[in-house]
Amino acid sequence: MRLAVLDRKKCVRGRGCNYECISYCPGVRMGQETIVKDEEGYPVISEELCSGCGICTKKCPYGAITIVNLPEEIGEPLHQYGTNGFRVFGLPVPKEGVVGIVGSNGIGKSTVMKILSGQIIPNLGRASSSWQEVIERHRGQEIQSHLEALTGGELRVSMKPQNVDLIQQRFKGTVSELLEREGGEFDLGRLGIAHLADRDIASVSGGELQRIAIAVALSKDADIYFFDEPTSYLDVSQRLKVAKLIRSLSKEKKVMVIEHDLAVLDYLSDYIHVMYGKPGAYGIVSSLKSVRVGINEFLDGFLRTENMRFRKEAIKLPVKPPAAEWEGKEYQEYPPFSKSYRAFSLEADGGTLRKGEVIGILGQNAIGKSTFMRVLAGAEESKPPIGWSLRISYKPQYISSNYSGTVQMLIGESKINREIFDTYLRDEVKELYNKQVSELSGGEMQRLGIVLALSRDADLCLLDEPSAFLDVEQRIRLSDIIRKVTEKQEITTMVIDHDITLIDYVSNRLMVFDGEPGKAGKAHAAEAMQEGMNKFLKKMGITYRRDPETGRPRANKPGSQKDTEQKRSGEYYYEMG
Ligand code: ADP
Ligand code: ADP
Ligand code: MG
Repeated sequence: MRLAVLDRKKCVRGRGCNYECISYCPGVRMGQETIVKDEEGYPVISEELCSGCGICTKKCPYGAITIVNLPEEIGEPLHQYGTNGFRVFGLPVPKEGVVGIVGSNGIGKSTVMKILSGQIIPNLGRASSSWQEVIERHRGQEIQSHLEALTGGELRVSMKPQNVDLIQQRFKGTVSELLEREGGEFDLGRLGIAHLADRDIASVSGGELQRIAIAVALSKDADIYFFDEPTSYLDVSQRLKVAKLIRSLSKEKKVMVIEHDLAVLDYLSDYIHVMYGKPGAYGIVSSLKSVRVGINEFLDGFLRTENMRFRKEAIKLPVKPPAAEWEGKEYQEYPPFSKSYRAFSLEADGGTLRKGEVIGILGQNAIGKSTFMRVLAGAEESKPPIGWSLRISYKPQYISSNYSGTVQMLIGESKINREIFDTYLRDEVKELYNKQVSELSGGEMQRLGIVLALSRDADLCLLDEPSAFLDVEQRIRLSDIIRKVTEKQEITTMVIDHDITLIDYVSNRLMVFDGEPGKAGKAHAAEAMQEGMNKFLKKMGITYRRDPETGRPRANKPGSQKDTEQKRSGEYYYEMG
């Protein structure tokens, strides 16, 4: 079976190309209507006539076309977004407990969730279809009863959508007015946002909005609950709070969650569906797997039940030298300093930087982590001033650009180390070259920001929340690149993040921030990974063990034997290796 997919965001419809897709197509040259233009000027590729030669995919200057051959057994798509549009095959199965979904960005996770919650009627890859036909197609399968209940109006559904910022666009009023309108009651204190009840929705931060959206979803009396990326913008303790709430909900209700923070996904889920395929082109839902097997097979790139390799290589943990042997050369100190705003003050211990090391930074939101980085970067004046003359490369938390031009032009004009860029970083942004910088999505902008920060010649590289908007694969690949560039260039890199798995993979030492969010923050000096993590996790009240197969950290379920033992012995975290 052949799929021809056109990315309409990349296609320029003759404005900046000569329809190479059409003029070079051997079918067209033989007089067939293999590719024609539609009324809007988009090329329409006939999947019946297409021979799969792939010339159009290579000739398109914007890489807008994907042609893939799929085995016949995969069957007809469940849903397709228009002619030559993205296709999804299969559905996840709601179960008692929590079903987690893991997969790349653009692989169809939100799409299947919208189908299961009734927001999209699947069209079976045709112009249209009915729920009746969809149910007919799934007769005898486990999903049949869900679809029947959903369409029969017997199933009450609640959903936390991916993009919480839409709430701000669609609703004017306070947080409690929103809850009231949505018809639910919820104790906001359970998410640590009781103080927001009378706040205007328009004036809350991203992390606050996320928790408000979760509160709205939880407030509804439903039979099944869907959470599409519930931890974006949240810090570790907020993520754990949300995870615990969702787990306790699942004792009585069915729950389905899409999540890119592996440690959270692992902690939350009873089962996993892996979604694989080609982002933007097609996505396939795997069979249901136990949580450990599902996540490990996802990292491995091979699904055993399906006997299917969906990625050439396993995602491997970056190898870092064991803490005991590791000794980077100290080359720079910074003094203890403080920085005060009207309502907030930060006290920072002095510290040292070592060549070739990555320092991870963990701490709650609004505790002064970004402030600390801005001081080190020289973007804020501290008392006493840092007063060093290091070359600094800095990726702020919020990145935007008013650059008018393509990614390739921006990279061409940037002062970067070409050798480092070519060796380690080019592949991460190659596919974005022809896109306008102003039109990049959050995840694309993030990748570009990190790539530029790492390819500049610097002594100290500062990365503020690099995992935001990235999927699991990108997060882990990026950790690997951060490590390699840091070691190769013998620089120091500091990384603020809330993804425990990423911090675990990337860091040689750890800085922990504590204090009172929004009022006073304390930045402790960097310490050995084991000690720093132990202190941090103890405060969180959570213990981690290591997965024997992949070495990834796995949160112990509260009250489990391991959890109790580790808490007693004070081993909240095990060093890798
Ligand atoms: P994920 O949640 O895994 O990131 P989505 O389900 O949001 O993926 O999207 C899968 C693919 O479908 C993407 O390529 C996206 O651009 C495309 N897509 C999503 N919604 C629409 C739509 N309404 N019309 C056309 N294409 C869409
Ligand atoms: P974190 O990065 O840990 O989330 P930040 O360093 O961004 O925290 O912010 C810490 C506190 O300082 C917050 O309460 C924030 O509102 C406040 N703050 C940050 N920048 C400024 C500023 N330029 N003026 C006044 N207050 C600020
Ligand atoms: Mg999504």
